[in-house]
Amino acid sequence: MTIEEILDRLEGVKKHGNGRFMAKCPSHQDKTASLGVTEKDDRILLHCFGGCETRWVLGGMGLEMHDLFIDSHQDWKKPIKSRWSATQILEGLGEAMSEVVLLLTRQKTQKLNDLELDRLRHFSNTIIILCNEVTARG
Ligand SMILES: [Zn+2]
Repeated sequence: MTIEEILDRLEGVKKHGNGRFMAKCPSHQDKTASLGVTEKDDRILLHCFGGCETRWVLGGMGLEMHDLFIDSHQDWKKPIKSRWSATQILEGLGEAMSEVVLLLTRQKTQKLNDLELDRLRHFSNTIIILCNEVTARG
């Protein structure tokens, strides 16, 4: 869940500084907002200053402990920051493919030496890496 989804289930939510919220604790008769809600790393921290245990607070919201973990789902959708520009990828692909075609053509008539085989492996690998780079961009 996200901190917003948690806050949606609480009443009397007030913002207390950066990323910190206070709300009415759903686990006890809370007249003042005595439940602290904060986001820390990959989870949401709940603290009732009235003394309720976290699981009781969660129970009051119909949630469980695992609901306090922030979904990393949205992070997967973020594009991976690329090291190469689109032009560099295209140029790299063109270069690698022409090398591979050249070597494969030569291989038809003569046996490639170790150096040439290394080049063939290297440029085949480059093609795969660059294709993966394009795929990762979505
Ligand atoms: Zn409480």
